[in-house]
Amino acid sequence: MVGAGVAGLSAAFAARKRGLDVTVVSAGAGASALGGGAVDDVQWEAWLSAARTLGEPLRTRALADDVRAFSDALGLWDLPAADVPASIVATAAGRLRPARGRDRGLLDLGSLGQTTVLVPRAPRAGWDADALASTLESEFLARRAGMRFLPVDAPVLRFVDEARISDADLAMRHDEPARLGWLADRLRELVADARRHASVSAVLLGSWLGADRERATELSSHVGVPVGEVLVGVGSPAGLRFEAAQRRLLERLAVKVVAGRVAVLRRAGERFELMLVDDDASVVADAVVLAMGGIAAGAIVYSPPEQRAGEDLPSEVSPSFALAIDTTDVPIRLAAGSDRIDAGGSIFGPALDTTAWPSGMRPSALESVGIVAPDGVVWPGIRAAGDVVAGKRRTVLEAVVSGLRAGQTV
Ligand SMILES: Cc1cc2nc3c(=O)[nH]c(=O)nc-3n(C[C@H](O)[C@H](O)[C@H](O)COP(=O)(O)OP(=O)(O)OC[C@H]3O[C@@H](n4cnc5c(N)ncnc54)[C@H](O)[C@@H]3O)c2cc1C
Repeated sequence: MVGAGVAGLSAAFAARKRGLDVTVVSAGAGASALGGGAVDDVQWEAWLSAARTLGEPLRTRALADDVRAFSDALGLWDLPAADVPASIVATAAGRLRPARGRDRGLLDLGSLGQTTVLVPRAPRAGWDADALASTLESEFLARRAGMRFLPVDAPVLRFVDEARISDADLAMRHDEPARLGWLADRLRELVADARRHASVSAVLLGSWLGADRERATELSSHVGVPVGEVLVGVGSPAGLRFEAAQRRLLERLAVKVVAGRVAVLRRAGERFELMLVDDDASVVADAVVLAMGGIAAGAIVYSPPEQRAGEDLPSEVSPSFALAIDTTDVPIRLAAGSDRIDAGGSIFGPALDTTAWPSGMRPSALESVGIVAPDGVVWPGIRAAGDVVAGKRRTVLEAVVSGLRAGQTV
């Protein structure tokens, strides 16, 4: 497997179930770690917009048994059963949005209904409880449920430096039982006090509750009401928790892990050889799953001819996107959705000012570029899964489904 995001991990899980020997080569964090927290099957904006247009409640779709088995083995997510009210998470930017599943550390507001959620104030950059509460309360889903968000003074930081340390460091402190117990005591007092004036049924905090494992479940049981985190857009402790769960699962599966970046994929007789960057070592395998992610993971490189031209015009108009690994004797084609991009059109590359941002149902051009792999097949013996595949939805569950299929069929 090249890549250890959710696609590479689920492919390894499925291949080990078949008794195959698996080696994972991973260059480190990709989208699964950068964007950790919400576990979507479809773009949530489209789901919410369809439910609003049709005036229907947000209910969950069914999941395949192997997806659930993988999620259970990972031990990180809550994926509710089919046809129940959807989980609703609050983003740090003040949106309320549905999610098919979530890292268990995130507060699920979907089952709360008409109630008040406390948002403790804390003197931390990036945490403005008053602004967050007022934005969340104005959201469609809050108004529809009659949900209120109340900013409250509460001593949720214990030491002076906690005003300045990163979310990751603060989350790590809550991995310690004594510190978690201290926070539970403070929040219990807070909830008891607030209940004298309002019907309070949850507490929303920053992304601070555990870096190794989520601590929100334990905290909630001590406080007596659900306590959980907001969803952060990029680079949060939820991503660290994914990486910790990933390491634990790979170890349990007895998968060999090679830390490094693949530079070359080439045929070696009936087998394949993966050569690593800055390393004489290589990995030889009977079959390969490319689960290297998209542009965010460095698997696809955006480099229009103009960028390579220096002070002069480029000598040729070549394609603007390239696979980051050299695959000279294994033909691999890239496409943007179903559009060919293997010939250059402009020295300036595609018109990203109009296509880079998703619009309506059209995904971002940068999220559609990938390897052409009908049914996940790239070449005999080579499969592709997850974000590296052209035209696939960029969601966690889409990557898991394609990773499982790759591991089952490679
Ligand atoms: C900021 C952000 C927010 C997101 N938010 C959501 C969300 O809210 N909900 C949702 O469902 N989805 C979200 N997504 C999408 C989701 O994270 C991805 O669709 C999914 O994680 C893709 O998994 P993957 O395994 O295919 O790729 P990745 O997780 O990107 O993994 C690719 C792996 O390949 C490795 N790699 C790359 N090149 C090489 C190489 N040459 N050699 C060795 N290893 C290599 C990388 O190091 C990485 O480990 C988000 C994505 C981003 C970037």
